[in-house]
Amino acid sequence: MAATLTDFLFPSLSIRHTFPAKSSLSSSKPCRILITTSSSSRRRSILRCSIAKDISPSSTKIHQSSDGDGDGSILDCVVVGAGISGLCIAQALATKHAEIARNVIVTETRDRVGGNIITFEKDGFLWEEGPNSFQPSDPMLTTVVDCGLKDDLVFGDPNAPRFVLWNGKLRPVPSKPMDLPFFDLMSFSGKLRAGFGAFGLRPPPPGHEESVEEFVRRNLGSEVFERLIEPFCSGVYAGDPAKLSMKAAFGRVWNLEQNGGSIIGGAIKAFQDRKKNPKPSRDPRLPTPKGQTICSFKKGLSMLPEALSKRLGGKVKLSWKLLSVKKLDRGYTLTYETPEGLISVQTKSIILTVPSHVASSLLRPLSMHFQSSITLQLQQSPFLIQRKQFGRNA
Ligand SMILES: Cc1cc2nc3c(=O)[nH]c(=O)nc-3n(C[C@H](O)[C@H](O)[C@H](O)COP(=O)(O)OP(=O)(O)OC[C@H]3O[C@@H](n4cnc5c(N)ncnc54)[C@H](O)[C@@H]3O)c2cc1C
Repeated sequence: MAATLTDFLFPSLSIRHTFPAKSSLSSSKPCRILITTSSSSRRRSILRCSIAKDISPSSTKIHQSSDGDGDGSILDCVVVGAGISGLCIAQALATKHAEIARNVIVTETRDRVGGNIITFEKDGFLWEEGPNSFQPSDPMLTTVVDCGLKDDLVFGDPNAPRFVLWNGKLRPVPSKPMDLPFFDLMSFSGKLRAGFGAFGLRPPPPGHEESVEEFVRRNLGSEVFERLIEPFCSGVYAGDPAKLSMKAAFGRVWNLEQNGGSIIGGAIKAFQDRKKNPKPSRDPRLPTPKGQTICSFKKGLSMLPEALSKRLGGKVKLSWKLLSVKKLDRGYTLTYETPEGLISVQTKSIILTVPSHVASSLLRPLSMHFQSSITLQLQQSPFLIQRKQFGRNA
C-alpha cells in the first residue's frame, strides 16, 4: 500500500480539528434550524444552489416516516447533508437524544455518503480526494469505537518529522522542546524574539479581534509567522492568515494569552488547572495514541461515514436534494427532488450541514438577513490538490 497526497504540496499539513459535529437539540423549542455549514470546505462556491419557486403540490408526494413511534407524518428532525457532520449529528440524535428526537432522517443529494470524504483504491494504491487524516481526540475515537472500526484505525508515526521548504531547502520543524535551540528554520534573533514574546515581552493585545497573522506577529515575531504558521495555515485551512480569526482558528492558543497574560503564562496556568481538576477517567474502550499524531483507517477515511451510515440504516435517504424550506406555524415543510419525483417532508426541526453557499440559498426565502450574513461572513477558498504516488520501496 502506498498513498501520497497533499503532504507533498503542503509539507506542513498536519492536525486538523474540523469535524464540527454538533449534537444538541432542545426539546423546549418546537421549531428550530441549526446550521453547521462547511465553512472549512475548500471548494469555491462557483455554482449557487437553485430553488424551485413553483412546486406544484399535486406532483409532490408526502413522505411518511416508518421509523420510531411518532405519528408517521411529522418528523422530529431532518438532518440535511450526509457528510461527516450530518452523520455524526444523526448518530448522536439516534443514540444520546433518542427521547426527544425519535423520528429522524438524514437526507443527501448525492448517491453516496461522506461529502468531502472520498477515498479511492486502484492498482494497489489508496488515496483520498478530500481529507486524509484526523486528530484522534476522545470524541472522535468514541465515534470510531462505537462504529466498530477500532481495529481498522491506523495512527501516524508521532516521531516522523515535518518539513518546511525555506530558502530552497527542506528544513525540519521542531517537534519537541529539545529541538528548539538547534533547528535551522529560524535565525538566532528570530528564536530570541519568539522566546521573549512567549514570556510576555511584546505589545499588548490591540482591543479588536485579531487575525492569525496579527496575533502571531505580535506575540512571537515575524519569523515564526512566515516560516511556521503561514505554511501550517495554508495546509490546514487553505485560508489567508491575514483574514482568519485567531480566536476562531486557534482558540486554544488564543486563550493562553487571555488567561495567563502571555502564551507561556497561559500554558502554566492551564497545567495548574489540569492538576487541580483532573479529567474524569477515560473510556477504557478507547485506544491511546502515542504522542501527538493523526490517524486514518486501513481502507481510508471513507470507512467512517460508511460505517455511520450503516448504523443509521433506513434513516439515510440518498439522492434526495433539498430544494426548498417553508416555515409552518409549528415546524417546516422541506421539498426534495428524488429519483421518485418531488417528495415533501414535514419536520419540527432542521439541521443544515450543507456548504455555506447552499445553506444561504435555501434560507433566503425565510430571512434575507440570515441569508446575507451567511454569504458575507463565510468565504470559501479555491483549492487545488496534486497527487503523486510512490511504491512502498521508493
Ligand atoms: C481537499 C480537502 C482536504 C481536507 N483535509 C482535511 C484533513 O486532512 N483533516 C480534516 O480533519 N479535515 C480536512 N478537510 C476538511 C473536512 O473535509 C471538512 O471539514 C469536512 O469534510 C466537512 O464535513 P461536512 O459534513 O461538514 O460537510 P460536507 O462534507 O461538505 O458535507 C455536506 C453534504 O451536504 C450535501 N448537500 C449539499 N447540498 C445539499 C442539498 N441541497 N440537499 C441535500 N444534501 C446536500 C453534500 O452533497 C455533502 O454530502 C479537508 C477538506 C478538503 C476539501
